[in-house]
Amino acid sequence: MMPVEEAFEIVLREAPALPDEAVALDDALSRVLAEDVVSDLDLPPFDRAAMDGYALRAKDVVAAPAALDVTGEVRAGQWPDLTVGPGQAARIMTGAPLPPGADSVKQVEKTQPLDEFRVTILSAVAEGANVAPRGSEVRAGDVVLARGRVIDPAAIAVLASSGKARVRVARRPVVALLVTGDEIVEVSATPAPGQIRNSNGPAVAAQARLAGAEVRILGVVPDRQEAIAEALRAGLAADVLVVSGGVSAGDYDLVEPALLELGATFLFTKVAIKPGAPLVFGRCGETLVFGLPGNPVSAQVTFDLFVRPALLKMQGARVLDRPRVAVELLGPVKNRSGRKSHVPARVRLEGGRLVARPVRSMGSGDLTAHARANALVVIEAERPQVAAGETAEAVLLGNFLEDDGAPL
Ligand code: AMP
Ligand code: MG
Repeated sequence: MMPVEEAFEIVLREAPALPDEAVALDDALSRVLAEDVVSDLDLPPFDRAAMDGYALRAKDVVAAPAALDVTGEVRAGQWPDLTVGPGQAARIMTGAPLPPGADSVKQVEKTQPLDEFRVTILSAVAEGANVAPRGSEVRAGDVVLARGRVIDPAAIAVLASSGKARVRVARRPVVALLVTGDEIVEVSATPAPGQIRNSNGPAVAAQARLAGAEVRILGVVPDRQEAIAEALRAGLAADVLVVSGGVSAGDYDLVEPALLELGATFLFTKVAIKPGAPLVFGRCGETLVFGLPGNPVSAQVTFDLFVRPALLKMQGARVLDRPRVAVELLGPVKNRSGRKSHVPARVRLEGGRLVARPVRSMGSGDLTAHARANALVVIEAERPQVAAGETAEAVLLGNFLEDDGAPL
């Protein structure tokens, strides 16, 4: 069995970089940026009022309260047609350019109009107060987003402000997905005795889409080598072929022989991981092939730890792995497997530290327990048990940030 870290390195090494393409900003969400984005402007582009109030000269109001002559008004979107001289002020709105001569803005709440042409400034103001100076955030020519960034709403804002109506992103990897198993029936079916609904197909497709892939569903095939090989053939045009089930040591685990029949070469077929020891990775021509264990939790966890990073690497993403944090365990965890174990858990911040409560789970078939987890506590192979109160590493799952905050 191959150590997890070694298998991870092999997967990343084999994952080829995809070409990039231009997309409209509206279609850029969750894509991976394939260019360094440079600002064509100083930001702010001019000295900008940060408050509604009066543009003035700080030295005129050192001995506040002080009365100033109001010479006019500057609104957002207007270039000022006035200047502010000694003893003068101009009404100014948030987002408007500071008129020449003024060096600061006094917020309107700290002023009192005397009449139409005079205002009393009630307290002194520091030079530069309530003004965002030109170029103080970004200078024209600065790199504001680096290639490899996954485009999130904050990045969309930066792209928009940089004038990027179109943006270069990595092409989406195409993932072909095949589900195997004599017992597997469609979601809409009521399973007959001995049958199981296909949960891996939809779950893995969803994981692949969240990792940026375009998914082609190859369907469900029974445990017959010819049927598997024939279905797999249709997936070889994809960048990545993912197969669920049929990779354990049983008599009807025929994915490996079917892949061999198609000329695949394997880089590993077993990884020292729990859940999910049988995990096949190889190539078939230009296509990367993953054979995931059929157990639903194993399939999802091995996808998250190996397939997702490969898909992100192909898209040139800088961050490939899920975030990992140190957590204090609220309950004991056993690991008699001799493999690196990933235990479903709920992590949250409590009293200034991250704590993890293992989710009660019946094992790698318990997809309902897995759906309650927002993290996986990682227990090294040589650690047979970890007591409550001890510290462990946790991988935060994709739902961590959207977690509903339900009690542990
Ligand atoms: P396998 O890896 O094919 O030996 O399957 C291991 C376990 O996972 C068995 O209990 C299967 O019934 C179950 N299983 C396999 N494929 C799926 C699937 N697509 N959806 C849900 N459960 C599955
Ligand atoms: Mg099977």
